[in-house]
Amino acid sequence: MKNIAVIGAGTMGNGIAHVFAQNGYQVNLIDISQDAIDRGVATITKNLMRLLGKERITEQDKEDTLQNISSYTSISEGVKNADLIVEAATENLNLKLKIFRELDQEAKDSCILATNTSSISITEIAAVTKRPDKVIGMHFMNPVPIMKLIEIIRGYSTSDEVTETIMDLSRKLKKSPVEVNDYPGFVANRILMPMLNESIETLYNGVAGVPEIDTVMKLGMAHPMGPLQLADFIGLDVCLSILNVMYDGFKNPKYAPCPLLVNMVKAGKLGIKSGEGFYDYSESRRAEKVSAMFL
Ligand code: NAD
Repeated sequence: MKNIAVIGAGTMGNGIAHVFAQNGYQVNLIDISQDAIDRGVATITKNLMRLLGKERITEQDKEDTLQNISSYTSISEGVKNADLIVEAATENLNLKLKIFRELDQEAKDSCILATNTSSISITEIAAVTKRPDKVIGMHFMNPVPIMKLIEIIRGYSTSDEVTETIMDLSRKLKKSPVEVNDYPGFVANRILMPMLNESIETLYNGVAGVPEIDTVMKLGMAHPMGPLQLADFIGLDVCLSILNVMYDGFKNPKYAPCPLLVNMVKAGKLGIKSGEGFYDYSESRRAEKVSAMFL
């Protein structure tokens, strides 16, 4: 595997492109928006500069990484030579189904199609292609250049061979892959999201305030971030949509999103990305500080 195409240059897509390029792969970064590509490449450059500043990479590594990345605004051009495509476009079922139909038509027959979805069924995505055995979940964690885990999700029809290839490839990226099966929320979000939801419920019930809840979990459970801070970091809209997928998928009320979370999303309080969530990020540069904690 040499040529990788990444669909989507947003938060996750640019991180995924960064990691492949830094490990010597040729990466085509594809987004419908030239603006998103420009912002994505600027973020990669900034993160490489930070790693250079901390002497984790050399100037040559930085240059080589940037040279390994080409950008495209058209899927058909960008995926032609790809051995693997990692889709990291917006979390929306219909959009992903449309993209996978197109990828199936445009990519080489041997190409493996992976998705970075947080919650959408791999099996459902695979079913719109003629190669369901070559469709797999590759769930990177945010921020991608820092976090070691990749949750590798086998759809109903994913072959052993494709799973093994992706597990090996993940290790070549110096990540730690963990193989899981395709059920709502997979493993990471099935365990994480109820905890975040319960923290919001605790706030909603007036048991304690935002800093108190976060402090209990940071100092009491040795979590590096409090759950409300983490929800802001992930995006409250993303948390809500993952909880809804689990609620619909299991038909179990324990996954029902807290009404406070629903209201905050309706009000446009999405966390760091909108400047306000459980914390206020508007005046100070706290959003940058939070990302900098990892890099
Ligand atoms: P984002 O909104 O930051 O980026 C999505 C990008 O997709 C945008 O730049 C958008 O222009 C692009 N896009 C939309 N339609 C497209 C199309 N047809 N072709 C090409 N590009 C298109 O979103 P994100 O947070 O990077 O999330 C991307 C995926 O990663 C989602 O499936 C999400 O569930 C998953 N994910 C997110 C996180 C997280 O913490 N944000 C963590 C793990 C997984």
